[in-house]
Amino acid sequence: MKQSDADVIVVGGGHAGIEAAHAAARLGAHTILVTHRFDSIGEMSCNPAIGGLGKGHLVREVDAFDGLMGRLADASGIQYRLLNRRKGPAVQGPRTQSDRVLYRAAAQQAITSARSLKVREGEVVDLITNTGSVVGVELSDGQCLRAGAVVLTTGTFLGGVIHIGDQRKSGGRIGDSAATRLATRLRGLDLPIGRLKTGTPPRLDGTTIDWDRVDSQPADADPVFFSFMTEAVQAHQVACGITRTTAETHEIIRRNLSRSALYGGHVDGVGPRYCPSIEDKVVRFADRSSHQIFLEPEGLTTDVVYPNGISTSLPEDVQEAYVASIPGLEAAKILQPGYAIEYDYIDPRALRRSLELTALPGLYLAGQINGTTGYEEAAAQGLVAGLNAALAALGREPIHLTRSNSYVGVMIDDLVTRGVTEPYRMFTSRAEYRLQLRADNADQRLTPLAMTLGCVAPDRSERFLKKQSALSKGRERLSQLSASPSELKSIGVSAGRDGIARTGLDILAFPDVGFADLTSLWPKLSDIAPEIGRQIAFDATYAVYLARQQQEIDRLSGEEATEIPPDFPFHNQPGLSKELQHKLERVRPETLGQAGRIEGMTPAALTLILIQIKRAQKAAAASNR
Ligand code: FAD
Repeated sequence: MKQSDADVIVVGGGHAGIEAAHAAARLGAHTILVTHRFDSIGEMSCNPAIGGLGKGHLVREVDAFDGLMGRLADASGIQYRLLNRRKGPAVQGPRTQSDRVLYRAAAQQAITSARSLKVREGEVVDLITNTGSVVGVELSDGQCLRAGAVVLTTGTFLGGVIHIGDQRKSGGRIGDSAATRLATRLRGLDLPIGRLKTGTPPRLDGTTIDWDRVDSQPADADPVFFSFMTEAVQAHQVACGITRTTAETHEIIRRNLSRSALYGGHVDGVGPRYCPSIEDKVVRFADRSSHQIFLEPEGLTTDVVYPNGISTSLPEDVQEAYVASIPGLEAAKILQPGYAIEYDYIDPRALRRSLELTALPGLYLAGQINGTTGYEEAAAQGLVAGLNAALAALGREPIHLTRSNSYVGVMIDDLVTRGVTEPYRMFTSRAEYRLQLRADNADQRLTPLAMTLGCVAPDRSERFLKKQSALSKGRERLSQLSASPSELKSIGVSAGRDGIARTGLDILAFPDVGFADLTSLWPKLSDIAPEIGRQIAFDATYAVYLARQQQEIDRLSGEEATEIPPDFPFHNQPGLSKELQHKLERVRPETLGQAGRIEGMTPAALTLILIQIKRAQKAAAASNR
């Protein structure tokens, strides 16, 4: 038998694939990335944007491992916005609109400049197995490549079918062929395979939009970057437009529902509930007369505009009619129609936490193929699959991220233990420990682990260690300073009249106190760099909550067996998110322990249920007296 061509082969140059290949190469594994076309490496198939709530956390975590996505997003960011800016840092989500061309160029540059990573253009049509393990791949030209481990990241291409109204054709995304032979082969392997779908809106010619008739949303004046290594904005910043659907838009859609691929019964796959098509929104939220649409420029050198919020599988003539019914888009020209795509995914419960298929050792899966949707979810799985494929090929132990150290860990645990019923996307509400899993501290949580693993380049390690040292020196200084309540009053902090002197760190834990307040009390602290001061302040704020959260967790673990009455009105608990109410109604857990194991359940939500149960018990006891 021929010797291996590489340690790791990664199939697919999308967001999961490039992250997997780069991660494997960073560990020193000789890696081959096989993908249909080099020039589509790093292609953004749908919206030209990275990050958002929960997704921004994933990007920061990938970056903490010296991964690519954060740097690519910063190289192409044309409209940074920190979502939930007015809420606490735990639920803030960095997001940027990206220039597609710049994003792709940065991805291709990163891949070609990585040591021990080669790209091979071609289509993988089969897996090579040896005594039940995967040891390589076969390409459509008949060439075989062998490796210690293989990572499949086929995205929406596996058995992909594109739908526009009642027209359907095979395709991986518009303009690209589907991976049909590989899909047939995988179906023959007796793997648990299902169908999912997603959709994209029509693309518009920005020169035909009446921008005076739409609102404008500028970029943030003080951008928050994705990568720990980024120091400045790298591309010109632009504004987005905002408009809304009208009663007429909804009427046109309602009238033509039977012509939508989705409602006409042409699509079998389940779509993303959180990224619904416009026809879905009109049906599901029938009481709403209007939906917001963001008009997002696709780049600095193109007039193409992505209308975020109106993805569709309606026929082209209906798309034209409803677009023209939207203020500002009356004369807008459609450059490419919206469409839905259906594709194969493998039930992720067939995976180990390392993302290796239990039934086929040596084969790792990442991205859309595991039932997720989104670039960030794909990249985060790519990171884990690439690292683990390389570790296995190099004869090392796998790495497992956990629910308590990362959103990546939350996602993988959700996927492998619960599976998916619809395309899975990340939200902050899925994490139980979101006060500790913040976007601002991703480097502190994960870079030490990544450095131990050996996947961090020396420039990042050096910068990270410098930051850690500045943080600990800063904290040390703050813990040695103290101020009385009257001194605190002079900077507008009310600590009552308890006469207790408080350290700088204690003071930062007060609501609305920032590092700048301390420098007005102790001017010498202004020699601490602003970003170090900000980080110390975030950590100090959350230290109090984290201690409380731990107490809550300890208390709840003693209430695991508490029974939940069969008629408990989950739907009528305003303190629970609509999503949790819905899930609890569906699952109807019998005990608090069971409720705690429901996807996205939080200690705060469990406490609320517990309080209601105790209240009902008290009321019942009182009426029996
Ligand atoms: P992809 O980015 O799809 O990359 C797959 C790569 O694998 C491609 O480079 C392809 O050429 C290569 N490949 C596949 N098979 C083979 C093979 N056999 N041999 C060699 N190379 C192969 N995400 C959202 O978050 N929200 C949305 O609303 C949304 N809508 C979408 C709508 C459409 C129409 C499409 C196409 C995608 C949409 N996405 C959406 C999904 C988003 O594009 C994906 O989640 C993300 O790109 C997945 O990354 P990936 O790396 O898994 O796969």
